[in-house]
Amino acid sequence: MPELRQVVCMKVVPKPEEIRVDYETGLLKRASARSEINPPDMNALEMALSLKDFYGGRLEIISMGPPYFEPVLRAGLAMGADHLTLLSDAAFAGADTLATTYTLAQGIRKLGGADLIFCGEESSDGATGQVPPGLAEWLEVPQLTLLTALELDIECRVARGRREIKGGYEVLEVPLPCVVSVKTASNEPRFMDYRRQYWASEAERLKVWNAEDLSADPDCIGLTGSPTTVSGLAEAASRERRRQFLTGTPSELATQIAELLQKSL
Ligand SMILES: Cc1cc2nc3c(=O)[nH]c(=O)nc-3n(C[C@H](O)[C@H](O)[C@H](O)COP(=O)(O)OP(=O)(O)OC[C@H]3O[C@@H](n4cnc5c(N)ncnc54)[C@H](O)[C@@H]3O)c2cc1C
Repeated sequence: MPELRQVVCMKVVPKPEEIRVDYETGLLKRASARSEINPPDMNALEMALSLKDFYGGRLEIISMGPPYFEPVLRAGLAMGADHLTLLSDAAFAGADTLATTYTLAQGIRKLGGADLIFCGEESSDGATGQVPPGLAEWLEVPQLTLLTALELDIECRVARGRREIKGGYEVLEVPLPCVVSVKTASNEPRFMDYRRQYWASEAERLKVWNAEDLSADPDCIGLTGSPTTVSGLAEAASRERRRQFLTGTPSELATQIAELLQKSL
């Protein structure tokens, strides 16, 4: 049986409570917020690591983003991944999901492809959920989305995924290679192995590729390759909570509550 090759796409996101928006450009101010690995990507990594525990093989983490992603992503190496590839170039900035998926697909091709390409179900900042299907399109492979569990039939080169639906679940089967997106909280991501931490911090665990390394078409990357524009931005007004003390007998209180509810309709 040939070695199982897995790639996990991991995005570094700003902590949700620290996100601010630049009202001039309509973009998120990422640099001012502390970073973490996108939580569902930890579930995707755990699913891939469980398969690696069973079948062995090689597990690569890939990410597109600025250099400051690197130390955050190294946690994935300490959890059990073999190597980390960061796609980083000023030319990738301003990418929408079309340009992001093109760039990630170019990176995965340059890695030599994979049997399984894992993603989280969505990011906590962009939250489009478009990256997994976009990747499947660029790589021309089938996709299994929003999975809570996955098993392989290695001999037949088939992936069988489980997706929760209202009142039950469905089992979906596709041939390898395929793209898989994993539901948030579908498993318990393992802790970092502290014995691997020094190993994970070594320079050779990481490679950084730029647009030229990927032989990327300049028309398909960054802002140039992004047909999406943020055409407007509005702040959602949050209603202030009020507290009011009512006094009276139980029936008087009931009448007052009914009147207040009536007014608020
Ligand atoms: C006009 C425009 C300009 C933008 N400019 C910028 C910008 O300058 N900088 C910026 O950071 N964002 C920018 N964005 C946001 C950017 O489009 C998204 O961050 C990106 O395309 C991923 O989409 P998403 O977050 O909705 O991912 P989703 O589809 O919700 O994510 C699903 C999964 O895909 C994988 N994934 C997603 N993104 C990555 C990634 N980068 N690397 C590895 N795996 C990934 C993860 O596994 C994730 O769980 C811009 C968006 C628009 C519309």
